[in-house]
Amino acid sequence: MFGTLSDRLTSTFKNLRSKGRLTESDIDGTVRQIRRALLDADVAVPVVREFTGRVRERALSAEVSGALNPAQQVVKIVNDELVGILGGESRALNFAKTPPTVIMLAGLQGAGKTTLAGKLAKHLREQGHTPLLVAADLQRPNAVTQLQVVGERAGVPVYAPHPGIASEAEVPTGDPVEVSRGGVTEARAKLHDVVIIDTAGRLGVDQELMRQAADIREATQPDEVLFVIDAMIGQDAVNTAKAFLDGVDFTGVVLSKLDGDARGGAALSVASITGRPILFASTGEQLTDFEPFHPDRMASRILD
Ligand code: GDP
Repeated sequence: MFGTLSDRLTSTFKNLRSKGRLTESDIDGTVRQIRRALLDADVAVPVVREFTGRVRERALSAEVSGALNPAQQVVKIVNDELVGILGGESRALNFAKTPPTVIMLAGLQGAGKTTLAGKLAKHLREQGHTPLLVAADLQRPNAVTQLQVVGERAGVPVYAPHPGIASEAEVPTGDPVEVSRGGVTEARAKLHDVVIIDTAGRLGVDQELMRQAADIREATQPDEVLFVIDAMIGQDAVNTAKAFLDGVDFTGVVLSKLDGDARGGAALSVASITGRPILFASTGEQLTDFEPFHPDRMASRILD
């Protein structure tokens, strides 16, 4: 995903290699190139401003170190600051003290929620958990069926508003809040220790969507609300993420479609804009294309 950005940063650093000492104007030139590379990669403007400001300040005040030449020093500063905007430390899922742990997924339609639900369910099952998927996306035709297909692939049952398919229990139809609540009750009764609720998205942010998601949150009191964002959406990432933060609030972010060849600015902006950590990355359509997110590894990948 970050091919172009990586190339541009690398060539910026290459220009510094022959320098024995960096003048203020060398640093300013470098920071300008970094700024342009980040903006061209669709990183949100305020994030770029803060990032380059900090890189400049640190580069200007960097001690001359015996171990690192000036170019290496700048690379190290950029690396540290990239780790910072990606959230700093990696963070694992929070589990409830008393099961079931409830994980709610939110995001725009097409962001990759349903796919992620399957990936997360499989990942948790492999770690010895007994997840239950809950089909609370009743908006999109086929969303329930899609979750059932994904659940089958992941080897995880699905609680869905279609009697006889997912559950012997009476499953409420029509109301996503009731389905979500029912899913948590079902998990408690059948001793599933994690519940993953797939919620509806819209093509654009709208009030009804936000209200529904907020109602599901209220009804199920999730331990995690994960905002799934398509890493390819560019500058829209800022407004979308802010709208979900205000409308539903969320505890963590999942970046999806990190395998794409778009510029990936969303991936580099969302943690910084929202102050919420990125927990996972989704990197393809298969259930195995999924990994816990580590800011330091992502920064190294970009600067490789
Ligand atoms: P939802 O509307 O948020 O539930 O999104 P879906 O899970 O249905 O995903 C929308 C489309 O994106 C589907 O065609 C998925 O196969 C695809 N998709 C989801 N995650 C990824 C990913 O990480 N990489 C790629 N390349 N495609 C993905």
